[in-house]
Amino acid sequence: MKPTPTDPAQRLRLMYDRLANAYGPQYWWPSQTPFEVIIGAYLTQNTSWQAVEVSLANLRDARTLTIDGIRGVSVERLQELIRPSGFYTRKAPALKAFVSMLDAEFGGSLENLAAVPTRTVRNRLLALPGVGPETADAIRLYALKHPVPVADEYLRRIAIRHKLIDPIPGKNRKGYESLVRLTGDTFASEPESSHAQLFNEFHALTVAVGKAHCGKVPDCQCCPLVDDLKHIGTEASGRRPNWIGRSNRDGNQDIGR
Ligand code: SF4
Repeated sequence: MKPTPTDPAQRLRLMYDRLANAYGPQYWWPSQTPFEVIIGAYLTQNTSWQAVEVSLANLRDARTLTIDGIRGVSVERLQELIRPSGFYTRKAPALKAFVSMLDAEFGGSLENLAAVPTRTVRNRLLALPGVGPETADAIRLYALKHPVPVADEYLRRIAIRHKLIDPIPGKNRKGYESLVRLTGDTFASEPESSHAQLFNEFHALTVAVGKAHCGKVPDCQCCPLVDDLKHIGTEASGRRPNWIGRSNRDGNQDIGR
């Protein structure tokens, strides 16, 4: 029998395998085009995906779920269409700013943006209004197909509850980057050609286990990751251990950064 790994990245790799076995392929991101991914990445900030779906349906019905559509619609009308996903007075101008940047610097083409070195793309996205690291990384991975990790609150919870990172990753840029580094380390020994797909599945699977089991109060008993808790000597439990920090809402936190 293989020895159980103790290194955090090796443990997380094993956890990924367990999630993949439990949940199967996730087929992310749940959108029809790369530009829809980008719209979704903005809209999901600090809200649930169900709310985003209502806004996406509004945009689709109004024929504005395209680069041309966002370019041509007024900010006021855009605010109405995306109102269900909240923070619409900030998200609407942010979406317009993305398209303005795409037009001014990349000929209105996502392919041109995707062809730029990934670190440069990240810095350019982070300079836009309403874009934090999680949104920038989700756009790079899911819309532009760059092989980069995405971290989120679900992964932060798992990392804290399984004591994978020391010091505990906070809800800030430093905490986010430590989660991204851990994810990169987790798949570092895999062929580079497989990284985009692995990062894609890993992020989707952490969201799946987070929604099913690792909410504000963890439900460890039937969780596919419960075996890993033996590394920290915590019994599987449906109760809230005292080392678990308070958590947050669905959706990413970039709008609040
Ligand atoms: S529910 Fe429990 S076992 Fe599952 S990921 Fe959260 S802390 Fe780990």
